[in-house]
Amino acid sequence: MTDYLIVGAGVSGLLVARELLAAGATVCLIDRNEAGREASWAGGGIVSPLYPWRYSEAVTALACRAQDIYPRLAADLLNETGIDPQYRECGLLMLEAPDRQQALDWSSRYSRPVQLWDEQRIYDHEKELAPGSVSALWMPSVANVRNPRLLQALRASVISSNAAVLKEHCELLSLDSSDTHAITACVRHNGVVSQIHAGSVIVTAGAWTGQLIAGLQSDIGMGTAEPRVQVAPVKGEMLLYRTDRKLLNGIVLSNGRYLIPREDNLILAGSTLEYSDFDKTITEQARSSLVASAVNMVPALAESTIVAQWAGLRPGSPAGVPYIGRVQGLDNVFVNAGHFRNGLVLAPASAKLLADIVLGRVPDIDPTPYDPTRQRESAGFGS
Ligand SMILES: Cc1cc2nc3c(=O)[nH]c(=O)nc-3n(C[C@H](O)[C@H](O)[C@H](O)COP(=O)(O)OP(=O)(O)OC[C@H]3O[C@@H](n4cnc5c(N)ncnc54)[C@H](O)[C@@H]3O)c2cc1C
Repeated sequence: MTDYLIVGAGVSGLLVARELLAAGATVCLIDRNEAGREASWAGGGIVSPLYPWRYSEAVTALACRAQDIYPRLAADLLNETGIDPQYRECGLLMLEAPDRQQALDWSSRYSRPVQLWDEQRIYDHEKELAPGSVSALWMPSVANVRNPRLLQALRASVISSNAAVLKEHCELLSLDSSDTHAITACVRHNGVVSQIHAGSVIVTAGAWTGQLIAGLQSDIGMGTAEPRVQVAPVKGEMLLYRTDRKLLNGIVLSNGRYLIPREDNLILAGSTLEYSDFDKTITEQARSSLVASAVNMVPALAESTIVAQWAGLRPGSPAGVPYIGRVQGLDNVFVNAGHFRNGLVLAPASAKLLADIVLGRVPDIDPTPYDPTRQRESAGFGS
């Protein structure tokens, strides 16, 4: 028997496991594929919401807390595992300086630096940008993390603990909580159906969370009038360029599209927003749209090689506010999911909050806005 069964080993599940292990608990973490290979691997790794002032207080509270955690987390993971998540404060330049007054007000309210730059400063900083930018917003403290490496480091950190078991290719099928001492999870592990006994279950199944929890609730005869965990997939496609020289110093954002420089002369170009259920097929249409945005920002990319294109499924939720807490109607079942476009940035704070809730600690963020037992407006789903 394990204290906690965590269902889904993306950034959300791995960080919850790390928090619970640090508190002395035992965990069993399962993933129906390999750990960290879904949205958490596919994402861009910008450690900030794209236009942070457009988000609610609930998202901002988690984002600010997580941004404060990240430098130490990355350093600790490097020390523990030898894998460098390449957390770099490279800054974010927003061309056209959108919503400038709102941005500057937000900056002073949350003490996150935002500067208004003129043409001279823009081109002094980024010499390869297309001509024509006369103003921009510069956020010097925004960082970028190399998310596939972050996930490798988190996985290595979790499995190094004697109190943790990671089962990959292990899918949750159903739960039985008729025994008052433990929940019995029915799983399919490498094709074989078996059981796992746990004190509590935490669902961190990303885009699959909504359908998974709805299935568990319907197994116990719960009606649809109760508050639901509304998490559903929103596809995002991305391109990876290899360039023959360094083209960018930091992240550049224009009209919702961004370029992220990695080490080794790699540049990520993202991303699309597509509502296509659980389909992860990459498309020619997305590729040409991403190429057009990328070349509009940095013309030299037209001469560079596209080495990869991929798609991931973001866990969309109403207004992008994640569900963190106890699930309606299911005893000792908790959820941490629905981070939509911001799951990498929000993850450390979100995992800490969930751990505080399950462990009965006083949370340092008010949990009310994320409470899964509250009815939410569906309007603005996935925005
Ligand atoms: C193109 C793109 C760009 C992005 N860019 C950024 C960015 O720059 N910054 C940022 O903060 N965020 C970004 N995101 C969003 C971010 O990637 C996600 O919000 C985040 O990774 C979600 O993490 P997760 O752990 O909740 O879900 P996931 O990483 O999807 O993990 C969920 C896991 O649950 C497993 N699972 C599902 N069902 C079951 C089951 N029944 N049994 C067992 N396991 C199960 C899955 O296999 C999966 O591994 C981006 C996303 C995309 C797609």
